[in-house]
Amino acid sequence: MIGFTGCGIVPGVTRAQAVESDRDLPAEADVVVIGGGLLGCITALDLAERGVRVVLCEKGVVAGEASGRAVGLVEYELLSPIKMELIARSIELWHAMPERINGEIGYAGPGLISLYKEEEPAEFTAAWLKDMQGQPGVEAHMLTDREIGALDPALGSGWHSALYQVNGAAIEPCLAAPAIARAARAKGATLLQSCAVRSIERQGGAVSGVITEKGSIKTANVVIAGGVWSSMLAAHLGLELPQMMIFAEQCSVEPVTGGPAIAGMTPAGYYRREPDGGYLFGAAAGRIPITMSIVKNLRKLLAAPTDVDQDMRPVMNLRTFFWDLKANRKRPENRVSVFEENRILQPEPISGITERTVTGMGEYIPAFANCKVREVYTGSLMSTIDNLGVISSVGSIPGLYIGAGMLYGLTMSAAAGEALADMVTGRAPKFGISPYRYERFSDGSEFVFHP
Ligand SMILES: Cc1cc2nc3c(=O)[nH]c(=O)nc-3n(C[C@H](O)[C@H](O)[C@H](O)COP(=O)(O)OP(=O)(O)OC[C@H]3O[C@@H](n4cnc5c(N)ncnc54)[C@H](O)[C@@H]3O)c2cc1C
Repeated sequence: MIGFTGCGIVPGVTRAQAVESDRDLPAEADVVVIGGGLLGCITALDLAERGVRVVLCEKGVVAGEASGRAVGLVEYELLSPIKMELIARSIELWHAMPERINGEIGYAGPGLISLYKEEEPAEFTAAWLKDMQGQPGVEAHMLTDREIGALDPALGSGWHSALYQVNGAAIEPCLAAPAIARAARAKGATLLQSCAVRSIERQGGAVSGVITEKGSIKTANVVIAGGVWSSMLAAHLGLELPQMMIFAEQCSVEPVTGGPAIAGMTPAGYYRREPDGGYLFGAAAGRIPITMSIVKNLRKLLAAPTDVDQDMRPVMNLRTFFWDLKANRKRPENRVSVFEENRILQPEPISGITERTVTGMGEYIPAFANCKVREVYTGSLMSTIDNLGVISSVGSIPGLYIGAGMLYGLTMSAAAGEALADMVTGRAPKFGISPYRYERFSDGSEFVFHP
């Protein structure tokens, strides 16, 4: 059912730890990465580690958008087998990240738990797990109620069963991308914040540089890692990148005594312990603002399977619809761009969601009863219309690379960033990259929706 209220966009405030920027805009670079979320920061880190002269441009602040607002789970529950090669590599990289960057990312793990009260969703997950046996990276099993209590007494009892992802983990989104950006700088990357890329320049069809609000940088390679804005950056080059936004709401609660150590999910939503003993709760719900990308791909999307356990609803908000439409049109480089008009994208709150999540969490986990909300915030996830993502060069524009639209983009960003760095430097990515190629949307490939 389409909704007609909510899904507006309001002025955004960052949650992420601050990172120092470089002052001077280099005249030239080997690679410019657009976007200081996890994907852009990891790509820049990988490139800097290889001795490549890389500049990371961020229109707002590092992790101001999705990467600083995620729940923080590195996970693969109910995902399609096609994603597992990438996820297996990502999990390896996440486990090694604190040591690699010698920085604090709030890593907690390994181990993640999804708790089920009812038989139907539990059986659905158990059947998925059976089908996934032998897939790369799958190290998971089902637990009985007794085993759940033995693993973490704070989870209480009376559960039907749980999925335990032995190699899952959690990270703190407020810390992770900033720590990775700092490490990238320490290894030679230049970081420019409040520095929107207004346009990507071409010469003879190939990438030749970028024009930012602070001046131009000559480069033969550009990586678009702009999250929600990747579609707009692509559209300004005449490329269609079919992505949709999914607006979600989360809250942080005051420290509680005796809460669970293992991060995970209950039927009321996701939870993760924060560094000070408070908890982050993420609603199992989202609102999908209707944009032109959705209208154009409506037939395909209507045929896609929906997750019955998540309260996902499309919303027609005319302001958001026309904002997106306008943002896809390129302005002259000497004018303030749409990227500068919205330094931190933040959806408006979703009515009633946090109240429902907090009440539900308190009913499921004893330590969460009566917890006090200290912060409510929203963010936008993004997904390509086939829910797979793009990690790709672009055949028609030599020197252009796109990383975008991975719904579980925090989990996937570690291997996706490495693969983008591999492609730029002419190395073979560590997993099969062909499912993620940009051209699948236009080369007559069959449309397949990947859960
Ligand atoms: C509420 C919520 C919960 C989530 N929970 C999880 C989870 O538990 N596990 C999981 O795997 N994933 C989760 N995700 C998804 C995950 O957070 C994202 O997929 C991931 O962070 C995307 O990273 P990114 O770097 O691609 O994009 P972003 O973090 O959005 O970064 C893109 C950056 O590009 C910048 N930018 C855009 N255009 C320009 C320009 N022209 N010039 C300069 N800079 C530009 C933006 O300002 C932005 O900072 C969640 C997301 C949300 C919102």
